[in-house]
Amino acid sequence: MPTEGAATRPDDPSLADAAASLFGAYLHVPFCRRVCPYCDFAVVAGREDQAERYVAAVTAEIERAEPFPSAPAAVFVGGGTPTRLSPVALARLLRVLERRRGLAPEVEVSLEANPEDWSPAVAASLVAGGFNRVSLGAQSFDSGVLAVLGRRHHPREAEKAVFSAHDAGFASVNVDLICGTPGESPASWRASVERALAAGIDHLSVYALTVEAGTPLSRAVAVGAPAPDPDRQAERWEEAAYLAAAAGLIRYETSNFARPGHACRYNLITWAQGEYEGFGTGAHRHRGGTRSWNVRRLDRYLEAVEAGGKVVSGAETLGPWEQEAERLVLGLRRAAGVRAGAGGGRLEQSEAGRRLSAAGVLERVGDRLRVARPLLGDEVSRAVLALEPADC
Ligand code: SF4
Repeated sequence: MPTEGAATRPDDPSLADAAASLFGAYLHVPFCRRVCPYCDFAVVAGREDQAERYVAAVTAEIERAEPFPSAPAAVFVGGGTPTRLSPVALARLLRVLERRRGLAPEVEVSLEANPEDWSPAVAASLVAGGFNRVSLGAQSFDSGVLAVLGRRHHPREAEKAVFSAHDAGFASVNVDLICGTPGESPASWRASVERALAAGIDHLSVYALTVEAGTPLSRAVAVGAPAPDPDRQAERWEEAAYLAAAAGLIRYETSNFARPGHACRYNLITWAQGEYEGFGTGAHRHRGGTRSWNVRRLDRYLEAVEAGGKVVSGAETLGPWEQEAERLVLGLRRAAGVRAGAGGGRLEQSEAGRRLSAAGVLERVGDRLRVARPLLGDEVSRAVLALEPADC
């Protein structure tokens, strides 16, 4: 990797800051076997008959894109479930991307995968095609919890996927876990985290189950189904953080833990307000100070690309203060924190900032600001967003 060695701690401030000058590329694959009840992403189920058409459309979108400012140092193929496409199709997309501006030496090439679509043969083909990092959507190692989440794989499949990813030569293996699913007990959560860590993962992402408007989960909660409890979720996060640290994984962002040398570079770029280009349904990009995003609906995306039309459905350009506030909010989620700068100084001097500093939540270390108690990070974000816009 161009910015870190195998021993670089994921929470190293220089690593966090250097990511701002790297360029990333995101490819979205919307296909899923079925739509999970809590999912709010741009996904479609049972439309794999459109896979070839979709690969052709993404290829065309990449070929028409503005030239990249530099060769991508990180590529992230997310979804949806990227492995609903064949390894050959995924490798083909990577080659098309490479033709735009090349790929940086030792580029990080990540993809998301579900255990039920994984096999040693798929893993080996992906490595041969240029992928070197995989993020496995295990979510839980408790069959009952998986059933509530609408996931059909067996916990053992997730474990085997970690082993076969390493055996195939993936340099970094992440597991995603969701905490706070109704029906999850403290013991089952602990067992899930322990089982993921015991499988030898390099990276762990812990997300709290959230009830997104418009999802089947939100409709179920509206008619009386149990909702996730934020206090229980905080306890689960603390337990995961404790177990991850004991296994040698260092927290480098509120939800993310990694061994030295295994921070996710693509995420570091987005958290540092770096630039990235996005392709596919619902994909977002950040170029020249403007954020824009593609249409989410598969049919509309395909028709627009095939007609040579625009796929961008919205855009926003942040003003100087909004950019500064975003820099603080994103930066303060990282364990490395953020250079205080003009906005950080205003935060420290605000009433909420003084209170958070006195309570040991907001901490000054040299020229950086950090959140010392990550579970209270949302309070810090609210304090940033409550600041009056100002010149900076
Ligand atoms: S597998 Fe992931 S992307 Fe697909 S529906 Fe489930 S949560 Fe959404």
